[in-house]
Amino acid sequence: MSVNIIIKKGISAFNSGCGLFYMLDHYRLADKAFVLMYHRVLSRDSSHDIYVQPGMFVTDKTFDRHMSFLREKYQILSLEKLIEKKSQNENLSGCCAITFDDGWRDNYTDAFPVLKKYQVPATIFLATAFIGTNSLFWPEEICWHLEQHSLVDATANKSFPVLKFYNEIEKYASDNRNMFFNKVIEHLKVYSPDERNAVLEYFRGLGTLQQNIPRQMLSWEEADEMRKSGLIEFGAHTVRHEILDQLPIAKVRTEILQSKKDIEEKLGVTVSTFAYPNGNYNVDVLNVLNEGGFVGAVTTKKGFLGKRTPLLEIPRIGMHEDISNTTPMFQGRILMEKF
Ligand SMILES: [Zn+2]
Repeated sequence: MSVNIIIKKGISAFNSGCGLFYMLDHYRLADKAFVLMYHRVLSRDSSHDIYVQPGMFVTDKTFDRHMSFLREKYQILSLEKLIEKKSQNENLSGCCAITFDDGWRDNYTDAFPVLKKYQVPATIFLATAFIGTNSLFWPEEICWHLEQHSLVDATANKSFPVLKFYNEIEKYASDNRNMFFNKVIEHLKVYSPDERNAVLEYFRGLGTLQQNIPRQMLSWEEADEMRKSGLIEFGAHTVRHEILDQLPIAKVRTEILQSKKDIEEKLGVTVSTFAYPNGNYNVDVLNVLNEGGFVGAVTTKKGFLGKRTPLLEIPRIGMHEDISNTTPMFQGRILMEKF
């Protein structure tokens, strides 16, 4: 546990004990709602054969605790209902909404049972090209490849970006699994998309069978079963999880509008909400969302939804295990700016 987390744990336990959260709740959330952002919910026996980044998950136990607490204390609405309430200028105090990004399979296997148990509505944003396939996002994919092929494998035939990649990460090879993969992802993040693809293509060419990757994302059948429960709504999150402010406008349009169309065709619903991959957007992106008839879009910027918040720029509070695995820490994360 990092020092930072130990301090947060202490402060939040103290605040909870002396009633500060009660006051913060009253003042900071006056006529404001909040939207939580989750990615993955993992049970103890979830398969860990694919590396999971620490910022990407809560355990099922933590998630259960979150939902039970919110059920007690707040009015949990679906994101669409919350947007409607805000559009009609209704009071937002005490309201919140739950969202999941990407469309991970564990949203069905581990989150959905908890949502049903507490009858909590939630919105899942789907990157539609990944749904029903065993394709992975690049951070998970590169880690998977590196686990199949140690760094000493296939040292020949490495072209520029691959050579650069090897040189950069070789020195971390003796770190433990988590530290090593964190470094790998950190380095590849600053590569251009073309360089990153060249590295991935190199590993794909080493003969790791793509079809051997265990499916990590939802299937359309699983999504449809959740839809039928009446608790789960779906929003768009692009087709290929592209970072939108780095794309030409024509591509922005396809990524956004096609993902909406995919979900509408597969699930027979109307999609009116959107989540920006990595939280990135610009004026062009907002224009396409307006054109496409979206009524709300969520960012990754931390904050509340108030009277003056633009509905295409709804802030969220990101949740992951390390910073929210006790109730005081969960409260601190919601109510305190720097948590
Ligand atoms: Zn995402």
